[in-house]
Amino acid sequence: MESKLRVLFLEQHAGDRRLGTPAETEILLADAIERRELSVHYQPQYEMGNGRGCGMEALARWTLPDGEDISPSIFIPIAEGAGLIGALGAWVLERACEAACCWPDLGGCPPTLSVNISTHQINRDFFAVLERIISVTGFPAERLELEITESALIADAGLAIDCMEEWKELGVQIAVDDFGTGYSSFSYLARLPVDRLKLDKSFIHRMPFERKTAAIVRSMFGLGREMGITVLAEGIETERQFDMLEHMGCQQVQGYLFAKPAPAKEARALLLVPWGTRLMPVYRPASASRGLHAA
Ligand code: C2E
Ligand code: MG
Ligand code: MG
Repeated sequence: MESKLRVLFLEQHAGDRRLGTPAETEILLADAIERRELSVHYQPQYEMGNGRGCGMEALARWTLPDGEDISPSIFIPIAEGAGLIGALGAWVLERACEAACCWPDLGGCPPTLSVNISTHQINRDFFAVLERIISVTGFPAERLELEITESALIADAGLAIDCMEEWKELGVQIAVDDFGTGYSSFSYLARLPVDRLKLDKSFIHRMPFERKTAAIVRSMFGLGREMGITVLAEGIETERQFDMLEHMGCQQVQGYLFAKPAPAKEARALLLVPWGTRLMPVYRPASASRGLHAA
């Protein structure tokens, strides 16, 4: 899978003068990590019921010296292929834990911090990295969530389960990211120590137009309820998508409709204000009667 991604990257970006050759890009990325030129943005997540902020997802950003941004969908696979993902992932995790230490407690419900973990970080060595970062930053482990994609679970399910169980001993939570896009296997779901499912945005985008997709989404919330796993819908962009999710019993939401990923200070300010309050009165005049008020 990794080498396929790499071949795809080589084909797609062979003539991209902005990035140079893939080998040059690897050097550029290694330098960027070394010189700490990368940054971390954060995207708030909200409770469906009361609109309150409940967490933030850390998303790596790479800005070239000329100011152009390279998408993580491009540079994360390069980092994986070049053996740089361990260093990059640890750097993101540490920066994010430092930033999250000063987030407000939101009326007794301190927000969680979600950090994406690459397949390549699912190994025995990552435990020590995690333990060190939690210890040096002082961020409470129980508020840290590691997001793992389904494909990472499929690659070596036995190793993934063993590693997750070890990480959970530190108190961290585990989420399955982009749920539904890989080879969703319900037998893994029963065995994995998972706290949250993040329903992939492709379902959310298709749901208003495809009856069957809407049925799948609805059933995911039922599955989550039965299993005692929180289900968050990601990639919500429209009121229509939101309304459908609300009727389906969705618990938590994340998407451009509420807040785009932003630098720490900006994202923190967005997290503090319940999203319904921000949308009023332009989009949701009915929100006031639904208790969507600032704390
Ligand atoms: P992801 O973990 O599924 O993150 C969600 C992606 O969807 C982010 O893209 C976010 O900006 C985007 N998004 C959020 N709301 C909306 C929306 O309403 N509509 C649409 N169209 N998109 C939305 P981003 O930041 O470009 O990241 C892409 C992927 O790169 C992430 O997907 C994740 O798999 C990976 N990634 C990002 N940062 C890291 C990292 O630090 N480590 C690792 N291993 N992977 C990372
Ligand atoms: Mg994610
Ligand atoms: Mg996702």
